[in-house]
Amino acid sequence: MGFLDRFINRNKPQEVVNNIPKEKEQMRKTFGVYCNKHHNTNGEKLCAKCTALLSTVMIKINRCPYGITKPICDKCEIMCFGSQKNKEFMEVMSSATSAGMFFKHPVTAFKHKMSAVGVDYGRQKMEDDKRKRAEAKEKNAKEKAKAKEQAEKDKK
Ligand SMILES: [Zn+2]
Repeated sequence: MGFLDRFINRNKPQEVVNNIPKEKEQMRKTFGVYCNKHHNTNGEKLCAKCTALLSTVMIKINRCPYGITKPICDKCEIMCFGSQKNKEFMEVMSSATSAGMFFKHPVTAFKHKMSAVGVDYGRQKMEDDKRKRAEAKEKNAKEKAKAKEQAEKDKK
């Protein structure tokens, strides 16, 4: 058990949590920090480009193939915004962190960080499980082959 199990207990039956409102809120804040810093805007008011990008993201979130228990977008492997918008989105998400997201919205930034860690952790665990299952299968097959060989020998 890694130390992260204390924070992310995946063996516990998971309740269905609607992640969408939380993520939208987080997204709005992140875009605000980014746009304020890079496009000379103020407060909640974003420039036209960021407004357009954010509204696309919001629409896509509502239609997320993962549904309401979705992982966070910047850790998602589907990235459904379209290739140009994906690029712009990732630019916003990574630049906002360096633009002071942690100072302006420490709680939001921290929670987002923890979700990101959770996604990475979950994915790694999935890979581990997959590997272990494959290993077990291989071992099983070997043992079966051995038993068969033994049985053949016994027959003779
Ligand atoms: Zn902007």
